[in-house]
Amino acid sequence: MGRDSVRDRESDVPAAPTPGILVMVGRACTRRCCVCGGGKLFRRWTQMVERCPSCGYLFERAEGQFIGAVGMNTIITFGLLLVVLVVGFITTSPNTPAAELAIIGVAVSVIAPILLYPFSKTTWTAIDLAMTPLEPGEAPLLSARLATAAADRDDVANAP
Ligand SMILES: [Zn+2]
Repeated sequence: MGRDSVRDRESDVPAAPTPGILVMVGRACTRRCCVCGGGKLFRRWTQMVERCPSCGYLFERAEGQFIGAVGMNTIITFGLLLVVLVVGFITTSPNTPAAELAIIGVAVSVIAPILLYPFSKTTWTAIDLAMTPLEPGEAPLLSARLATAAADRDDVANAP
């Protein structure tokens, strides 16, 4: 068990299965829950709910969890800025309009992080889950549904 001893867990309920990384990234790219694929994770573009309304997964597993998302967002924004500046410079050289290019650069630096924000959070959640799979009690609504489904199957199997 180890690092989760401080967390409040329903240890009698087995952990829900963690989806594969490709499934999770696919869900993240459409701003859905990596664990269950459920939607409605954002109240507004930049305001993420605390828990998935479909499976109950708590997105901020540990304090500072989303520093990784901020870092990822920053790296992608700098990458975009670099591409814009290099392409702008190459296509207009030797008469590069410095002021226009600077304005475009500032616009990219402001708009890209806002557009990418929700995706960076869901994608970081996928990366974190790939590194540290679901533990018991982390997606309580999903675990409960799986347990009910398993019980139903047992009932059918045991029926006379
Ligand atoms: Zn979910």
